[in-house]
Amino acid sequence: MFEYKSYDVAVIGAGHAGIEAALAAARLGCRTAVFTLTLDAIGNMPCNPSIGGTGKGHLVMELDALGGEMGKAADATMLQSRMLNLAKGPAVHSLRVQSDRRAYHRYMKSALEAEPNLDIFQDEVIGIDVENGAVTAVRTSLGGVFPCRTAVICTGTYLGGKIFVGDAVRRSGPDGVVPADRLTQCLVDLGLPIRRFKTGTPARVHSRSIDYSVLERQDGDSEIVPFCFDNDKPLENTRCCWIAYTNEETHEVIRRNLGRSPLYGGAIVGIGPRYCPSIEDKVVRFPDKKRHQLFIEPCGANTEEMYLQGMSSSLPLDVQYEMYRTIKGLEHVEIMRPAYAIEYDCCDPTELYATLQSKRIKGLFGAGQFNGTSGYEEAAVQGFVAGVNAAHLVLGREPFVLTRKEAYIGTLIDDLVTKGVNDPYRMMTSRCEYRLILRQDNADERMCPKGHELGLLSDSKYELFLKNHEELEKELELIKHTTLHATDEVNSMLESRGETPLSGGVSAESVLKRPNIRYTDILPFLHADGNYPSAKVQQKAEIEIKYEGYLKRQAALADKLSREDQLALDEDIDYKQITGLRLEAADKLNRIKPSSFGQAARISGVNPADLQVLSVWLAKRRRESAKEKTDDQ
Ligand SMILES: Cc1cc2nc3c(=O)[nH]c(=O)nc-3n(C[C@H](O)[C@H](O)[C@H](O)COP(=O)(O)OP(=O)(O)OC[C@H]3O[C@@H](n4cnc5c(N)ncnc54)[C@H](O)[C@@H]3O)c2cc1C
Repeated sequence: MFEYKSYDVAVIGAGHAGIEAALAAARLGCRTAVFTLTLDAIGNMPCNPSIGGTGKGHLVMELDALGGEMGKAADATMLQSRMLNLAKGPAVHSLRVQSDRRAYHRYMKSALEAEPNLDIFQDEVIGIDVENGAVTAVRTSLGGVFPCRTAVICTGTYLGGKIFVGDAVRRSGPDGVVPADRLTQCLVDLGLPIRRFKTGTPARVHSRSIDYSVLERQDGDSEIVPFCFDNDKPLENTRCCWIAYTNEETHEVIRRNLGRSPLYGGAIVGIGPRYCPSIEDKVVRFPDKKRHQLFIEPCGANTEEMYLQGMSSSLPLDVQYEMYRTIKGLEHVEIMRPAYAIEYDCCDPTELYATLQSKRIKGLFGAGQFNGTSGYEEAAVQGFVAGVNAAHLVLGREPFVLTRKEAYIGTLIDDLVTKGVNDPYRMMTSRCEYRLILRQDNADERMCPKGHELGLLSDSKYELFLKNHEELEKELELIKHTTLHATDEVNSMLESRGETPLSGGVSAESVLKRPNIRYTDILPFLHADGNYPSAKVQQKAEIEIKYEGYLKRQAALADKLSREDQLALDEDIDYKQITGLRLEAADKLNRIKPSSFGQAARISGVNPADLQVLSVWLAKRRRESAKEKTDDQ
C-alpha cells in the first residue's frame, strides 16, 4: 500500500495566514506541507487588493521585522503607496499600498515553491485525525492520509462558504473557487466551538465605463516608505486612485430595495464586520448622512478591473446596476464582477492559547479568518505566530508569545484569546493601549531582535538593523550633548519658524522640543560637515526627543501592567472552588484559563471585585505553599 509522506507541520490553507505559517515552519527546519483548494489562488486577495492601512500597516512592519513575507510581497507588487494619518501624531501613521493582485499571488506562489522544506498540495482537507488528544494526520478529499505532528487551520472564508447576491445563493468560496464543505463536521466532532460569520465585497467594474473627469484624483506619496526597512530599491507609484460619493438618490435606491437584500430579508445568518459595513448597512445605520465616500482603485497593472471600495453589497444584480449608476462618474458603469456577501464557518478563538494552539487538542493550531478575524494582515501575523509555535512544539522549543506591550501582534492575539469576538475582528490603532510606544517607525527596534533569535530574520537584515540602531543611539547622544548658541543662523532659523530667539546657550534637545521646530531645522547645527544621518534615523530621533515625556509615561504604565502579566496563573486552578468569585467570572475563567493575572483582568465578565477576590486567594495560596516549604525543611 502507498505510504504518504509524513510531516511535522500540515498547514490547511494557502491564504495570507497559511503562507506565513508554512514559510515560518519550513524555515525553522520542519518538514511542512501546505494544502490549498487551488494553486491558482495562493495569496489571493478576494476583496480589496491592498496591503496595510490604519493599524494594519503596523502589523505588516512588525511581521517584516520578525522575518515574515507579507511586507516583501507588498513592496514588490505595489501600484500606489500612501502613508495614512500624516496629519495626526506618529503613533497612528499607517502605511497602505494598492497592490497588483495577480502579481501578489505570483510572488507568494513562487515564495512557497522556493522553500526546500515545504511541499504544496492542491487538495481539500476533509478530516484531522486525533489520537490520545493529539493530532496524528490530515485526510484529503482524494483519499490522501498524511501523518503529521501538528496541523494549522487557515481555511479563511472557504470553510462552509456560501455566497449571496440578492436571492441568488450558492455554496462557493470567493472568486468561484469551490468551498471546503467537509472539514467543519470533523471540527465539530472534535469539540471545537464553530460559528458562522459573514463578510462582503463591492463590484469590480470596467475602467473604460468610468468618467474620471468628474472624480477627485488621489495620488500616491511623492516619497515612498517601504514596508521592509532593508528595501533600498526605488519604489514608484504607477497608478492613482479616485474618490467619488454616494448621494440621496443612491440611498433611495438602497432603501427601496432593502426587502430584496439577503441581509435584511433574513437569508444571511452569519454575523458581519462592524467596522467594514456594507453600503446597505451604512444607509440604514446612518440615515441622516447625505453621502458616503467611495474610493475607486485599480486591481492590477494589466487589468481594467476597478474596485469600488466602500460599496460592498449583497443586493441583487439589477439593484447593483441601479445603485452604482446614481453616482457621479459611474453613470454608465459596467460591472465585471458583481458585489456579493459570503458566509463561512470559523472558530471561537477563546478556544486557543496565546500560542494559537487549541486548548483541547495538542498540536492543533488556528490562524486567520478561521479565528474570527477579517483582513489579510490580521491573518498573516497569526499565521506566522501559529507556524512558529507549531514548529516549536515539534522541535521542543519554548512557546513564542508576544505581549500587548511589545507589539500590535500581541495585542491582536491577546484580544482574540482573552475577549473572544462577537463579529469579524479587524485591527485598529484604538485597540492598542500602548500605541505611543508601538509605532510603525520602531517596529524594527521592537521585533528584529526577536526575529533573529527565532532564526527567521536573516543575518544581513539583522546586521542592517544593528547598524541603524547604533546610528540612532549616536544621534540621540549628539542631540543631548550639543549646545546651540545665540548665533545669527540659529536665531534666524528660530524666527522663521515663529519661535523666540535664543539669548544664550541652550541644548539642541530643548530647541527640538519646541512645537514648531523640526529635526531638519537643527540638522545643520548638529552636523556642520553636512554629513547627515539617514531619513529614518532623523525621523526616529525626532519622535524620541519630541515625545520623550509621553513615551516614558506610557512605558512606565506598560511596565506596571506587565508585572500583572508576569503573575502566572496555573492551568489547573478550578475557579469554581474560589469562595466569593461570582459564578459568571468563575465560568469565564475556567473556560479561558488565563495564563496570568493580567490576562484574567482583561476577560469581559470578570470585574474588579472578582479580581480582588482572586488576588486575595492567590496571596493566601502563596503563603500556604511558602509555609509548607518551611515545614518540610
Ligand atoms: C467577499 C470578501 C470580502 C472581504 N472583505 C474584507 C474587508 O472588507 N476587509 C478586510 O480586511 N478583509 C476582507 N476580506 C477578508 C480577507 O479576504 C481575509 O480576511 C483574508 O483573506 C483571510 O486570510 P486567511 O489566510 O485566513 O484566509 P484566505 O485568504 O481566505 O485563505 C484560505 C485558504 O484556505 C484554503 N482552504 C480552505 N479550506 C481548505 C481545506 N479544507 N483544504 C485545503 N485548503 C483549504 C483556500 O484554498 C485558501 O488557500 C474579505 C474576504 C472576502 C471573501
